[in-house]
Amino acid sequence: MNALGVKPTITKGFRTAAEQQALRKNPGNYPVAKGASWHQAAQAVDFDHYDRNFPIIHAIMAKHGFVWGGGYGDPVHFQLAPKGTNPDSSLLDKVGGN
Ligand SMILES: [Zn+2]
Repeated sequence: MNALGVKPTITKGFRTAAEQQALRKNPGNYPVAKGASWHQAAQAVDFDHYDRNFPIIHAIMAKHGFVWGGGYGDPVHFQLAPKGTNPDSSLLDKVGGN
């Protein structure tokens, strides 16, 4: 993205289990994963979707296989795994998200 002059604002990357639990209690504007979040597995990222370059960010993320959360009310969110899936706890153990 930087090569195209796009410097996206990442609003969230990795999230601990404690942070995920706090988000469930106080969800804010976007839906919260019912089970473990792909953020806890370090396989999801949120961007500032009000960025004027968001269409470019979206296209690059899609090109690299990320699924956009905009189709289910989470326009800031991209994850590698299909919609409606959750990471298993062995993966979370490996990256510290459990
Ligand atoms: Zn997210």
